[in-house]
Parts: sequence; structure tokens; C-alpha cells
Amino acid sequence: MEKVMEDKQTACPHCGQRLNKWSTPTFNFADGLGWCSPFLYVCFNDECSFFKNSWKQMYEIYGQEMGYRYMLHPDSGESSSIPVGNKHAMKGDIVDEIIEAQEKEELEKRKKAFQLLTDYFISKDVDSILNMLMDENGFGSVRLKAAEHLGEIGDLHAVEQMANCKFTHEVIQKKVDEAIQKIHKKNFTMECPYCAEIIKIRAKVCKHCGKELTA
Ligand SMILES: [Zn+2]
Ligand SMILES: [Zn+2]
Repeated sequence: MEKVMEDKQTACPHCGQRLNKWSTPTFNFADGLGWCSPFLYVCFNDECSFFKNSWKQMYEIYGQEMGYRYMLHPDSGESSSIPVGNKHAMKGDIVDEIIEAQEKEELEKRKKAFQLLTDYFISKDVDSILNMLMDENGFGSVRLKAAEHLGEIGDLHAVEQMANCKFTHEVIQKKVDEAIQKIHKKNFTMECPYCAEIIKIRAKVCKHCGKELTA
């Protein structure tokens, strides 16, 4: 039932062809109304009677080489028309349904990754969180959250791994640096400025390299 309704709504009443989703431009057309929608349904059938007649009319009445395509607003269900200067105009903005499906899949994957990360966080599985953070192919938002979680857990063991890794994304690197500082604070530790080993903040001499530390 739902499918039938959808088909009926997204078919052009002039030619019966299925309407294409057309992503609206960021700028407004001359009417200045704005679309108030990320996409509109547009009939892109070049043989559509509405489209063909509009060319004839525009030429006969105004002497202009232009026409109108049938358009349907997805929210209000109001139909209208959209001016085009040639047959190929706007076609670049037709929303590809394959891309849409891919985006949906991406969204699903990201959701799963976040769920997994939350599970690791609850069980304080530092190694698994580190793996997610290090995964260069992982989602940026998930990796940022992983760094945050590591800071919250405060396990010193994570510092070594994070400090030894160069992160290509500047934002992630920043988040990692913040997490490292947070872990140090929790453990009253710091990185020795000479040998980079983890030492107590109160230490006067580094237990690793033996250098004197001035406060
Ligand atoms: Zn049509
Ligand atoms: Zn040292």
C-alpha cells in the first residue's frame, strides 16, 4: 500500500514517468522563495507533454528559447514548475539512488561502530578502543570519540601507544594530545622532556634516563 502511494505521488501527471529526486541548489532562483527542502521531485522526461508544450509556449508568447519542467514539493505535495534554459540543465543535480543507498549503508556502519565503541568503553577494553582509534580507515567521528574515551578511562598503558603514533588528521591528533594530558593528570604523571618515558610529576630525577628535572 505504502509503495503504491509513493509511486502515485512521485509520478509525473503529464507523462506518467517517475519523478527524479533533484537536489536543490544553495542559491535561490529568481522568485526568491527558497525551496525549504533539500530536494524536489522533478520530471526529467524530455518527451513529457508539459515540458514540450512549455517550450512551444515560451517561444510563441515570449520568443524565448526556454521551458519548464514539472516539479513537486516533497513536503507540501504542491506541484509547480521550474524554468530551464536547455534540456541538460539541472540534470547534474539528480540525486543518484545508488549513492543514496551507499550513504544509508555508511550511516548504518557508523552507527554500528559507535555501538561497538560504547561497549568497549563500558567494559574498559582499552586495547580494543586503541585499535579503533588507530584505524586509519575508520570513521573520523568514531576515532575522535575513541580518543575521548581513552582520556576518560585514564589508563597509562594507552599513553605509550597514542604518543608513538602520528595521526594524519590534525583534529584527531589534537584530541589524542588532549587525551594524553588527561591521562597524565589522572595518574599524576608526565612525559620526561629528555627521554619521553612516563614519570611521576613529583620526580626530581628521571628514573629512566637519570636526568635532573627542574620544576
Ligand atoms: Zn512529465
Ligand atoms: Zn627521562
